[in-house]
Amino acid sequence: MVKRIVIGKKDCLTESCKKSLFVFRGKNGNQRKFCDACIVERRRARQRRRWAIDKEKIVKGRRKAQAAYMKEYRAKNKERLAAYSKSWLANHPGKKTAYMNKWRAENRDRHLVKALKDATRRRARKVNVFVEDVDRDIVFARDKGKCGICNKKIDPAAPFDIDHVIPLSLGGKHSYANVQISHPVCNRRKGNRVGKKANNQEVLQVQRTAELSKGGNATVARPRLSSRT
Ligand SMILES: [Zn+2]
Ligand SMILES: [Zn+2]
Repeated sequence: MVKRIVIGKKDCLTESCKKSLFVFRGKNGNQRKFCDACIVERRRARQRRRWAIDKEKIVKGRRKAQAAYMKEYRAKNKERLAAYSKSWLANHPGKKTAYMNKWRAENRDRHLVKALKDATRRRARKVNVFVEDVDRDIVFARDKGKCGICNKKIDPAAPFDIDHVIPLSLGGKHSYANVQISHPVCNRRKGNRVGKKANNQEVLQVQRTAELSKGGNATVARPRLSSRT
């Protein structure tokens, strides 16, 4: 390290402090304006001013950074965290159920939507025709709030079903192409039948499959092909 040569003294610029500071030889030897204590105090004051103006922005930024950090942390420590949560759950019986019940009670709407979605997906997986993650709200918007079975409006505030035009049990797929929104009543009435919006090719396919598996329970209750497909 180069030894700095003191060539003079000056006072800290803070009026109330005026502590003396060394001035060193060289181009940058006279740069310091405040003593260490004043530098710290000025930095704090700057942060306080920024906080007063931009509190929300700062908090938001911190949360974002925190979330990013946690995401990375979880990804890196996946196994360790899984082992920890497993042992915690074993040591705290009933806690998980209690927590989940509480969440469900407090987030009733979100819980219902999630339960409906999960049920549909489970059913679709079971018959091995799961294609994509169908979002109920997207289907509702795409179908312009109209029931695909009776063609009448569905009250946006009322519950609605995601109907499979070709039922999953008949080989229909859980995909945007094969779903439509419907009144729960209409969906129950339609039951295990092929919807009018299925295209002829698909209906023929279902009929062939039904014939092949004679004796099976695949009922095609729409023998005549609709003209409005
Ligand atoms: Zn000072
Ligand atoms: Zn309807």
